[in-house]
Amino acid sequence: MYLKNSKKIVIKIGSSLLIDNDKNIRQKWLTEFSKDIKDLLIQNKKIIIVSSGAIAIGCKKLNLNKRNLKIDKSQAVASIGQIQLMNLFNKTFAKKRINISQILLTLDDTEQRRRSLNAKRTFENLFELGFVPIVNENDSTATTEIKYGDNDRLASRVAQISGADCLVLLSDVDGLYTKNPKKDKNVKLIKKIKNIDKEIERISTNSTSEHGTGGMKTKIDAAKICQLSGCFMCIANGLSIRPIQKIIKKNDCTWFLPKISKLDARKKMDNRFGITKRRTYD
Ligand code: GLU
Repeated sequence: MYLKNSKKIVIKIGSSLLIDNDKNIRQKWLTEFSKDIKDLLIQNKKIIIVSSGAIAIGCKKLNLNKRNLKIDKSQAVASIGQIQLMNLFNKTFAKKRINISQILLTLDDTEQRRRSLNAKRTFENLFELGFVPIVNENDSTATTEIKYGDNDRLASRVAQISGADCLVLLSDVDGLYTKNPKKDKNVKLIKKIKNIDKEIERISTNSTSEHGTGGMKTKIDAAKICQLSGCFMCIANGLSIRPIQKIIKKNDCTWFLPKISKLDARKKMDNRFGITKRRTYD
């Protein structure tokens, strides 16, 4: 229901959805995913995709193992893989007549006022032009170490600066369970979270995601940013075909509810950046 009511939606795709363990591109999945995006666009929703996968696809092309890569090498691999990644999106989405563009951001871009306002305007212009922006972290120039899960945080920042109503984190986990489902059978999927309290933090550090135990932490960090941005967020399993349609129909995911309205979030952001009067161009 939250997704259905949202007008501006950010969808984050983890690498494991685009490329399987045997390093094969999950082409059928992406083709079906493009149908999900087309459906949302037909409903006049504005969509931003945050996609990981540059390093994974770069490794595939170069026949390298992602796990043994040193930081400077992985930055070069990301640069090689990013173009492959976008080619893949372009080829697949063109068949559904979806226009795409690429935006590479660093976390700094989203945390500094001028740069984040600039990024916001770029998103708005792209929506007006009828393009779907596809964002990734600018891994090749980022000065901080590339860590898996960074894109969860990046996606929440993108949701914040673009004023999105909803962020969907698609990965290979169903959401947050009361206990680790891989270790315990007696578990329940938590459907709705209003407060990220100590218990939720504890559960999340014991949970598993695509990046192993503790991989849920970056998703919880993302949820905290969303809660203060007036943005709904969900963690959902994207491995199935048509994952967005599945969330809308079955709602089998974990939702984090915002703590403040989008308007209050914007006022807070203005205060943080010291903006007293909004100008059309900064
Ligand atoms: N930006 C990285 C890539 O495209 C992935 C980072 C992440 O998965 O969080 O390969």
